[in-house]
Amino acid sequence: TAMYEAKRGGRGRYVVFDPSMHERVARGLAIENDLRLALERDELFVVYQPVVDFSAGRAGAVEALARWRHPTRGLVTPAEFIPVAEESGLIVELGRRVLDTACRQFVAWQHELGVLAPQSIAVNLSTVQLRHAGLVADVQACLDASGIAPSQLQLEVTESLAAQDEVARTRLRELKALGLTIALDDFGTGYSSLACLHQLPVDTVKIDRSFVSHAETSEYHRALIEATIRVAQTLGMSTVAEGIESSGQAALLQQMQCGRGQGYLYSRPLEAAALTHWLRSHGAPLAAA
Ligand code: C2E
Ligand code: MG
Ligand code: MG
Ligand code: MG
Repeated sequence: TAMYEAKRGGRGRYVVFDPSMHERVARGLAIENDLRLALERDELFVVYQPVVDFSAGRAGAVEALARWRHPTRGLVTPAEFIPVAEESGLIVELGRRVLDTACRQFVAWQHELGVLAPQSIAVNLSTVQLRHAGLVADVQACLDASGIAPSQLQLEVTESLAAQDEVARTRLRELKALGLTIALDDFGTGYSSLACLHQLPVDTVKIDRSFVSHAETSEYHRALIEATIRVAQTLGMSTVAEGIESSGQAALLQQMQCGRGQGYLYSRPLEAAALTHWLRSHGAPLAAA
């Protein structure tokens, strides 16, 4: 337990235990053990959220998101298990499974839905995976096993990591050399800024929900969103607004020429069968917001 907390707090840092911290650590350890079992017992699954292409008025892409149905705890959120998976290294195996499942599901949709199928699928990649030496080979193996065209896969990485680390940037270039594209997730929340964007080998910028949620009420947030979109356009990158919950937000983002939007307004993340249904019923262009 002490080692575990020391890792969380950073090497060589003094860690003072208080009861709540102790509970957190205990819960973290319990989750780590259970996560190991979950991988063996196949308790993890993948849900999919549509990413709506504003000009086409329909889903051009879907994002795959990991879920865990624990036998006694019920649904555990990614906010709880992804950090534990990262610290324990289990994220490498978990990430491989999500990628494999998502690529296969994408190919199944192409066969099942034809023109109504999404054109690409996005899968999240953690910092730990990006540093893992086997990543590029793992991704190539997933591409080969599923038969997905590399250009139909987008990997999402967070800003803080990609911006700061030359190793990570090199790895991103190796991934792009496979023919897939890279998205910068949660843009605006990390350490980097618009000034660094041109240094990053990314194709898509995903504007974080925390900006989108203030779009209607805050001129400051609108200005930041608009600046992000302009800079991305200048660099030839596409833009996605995350966490769109209202038609007012969607209208603003479209006015600002954001390319795509994702959020509860369109659909929550759904299991594959439910998203198949959604894709069928939203095959025709969505009504303009
Ligand atoms: P993310 O990649 O930024 O994914 C978007 C998150 O926002 C998802 O949360 C999604 O359910 C949520 N969301 C989408 N639209 C809305 C909306 O309109 N309103 C609100 N309030 N939320 C919305 P989720 O699924 O809980 O995932 C949280 C984070 O966990 C993800 O953020 C991602 O960073 C991480 N994650 C999830 N699955 C994976 C995975 O397979 N691998 C890795 N490495 N990370 C994952
Ligand atoms: Mg994401
Ligand atoms: Mg995101
Ligand atoms: Mg986000």
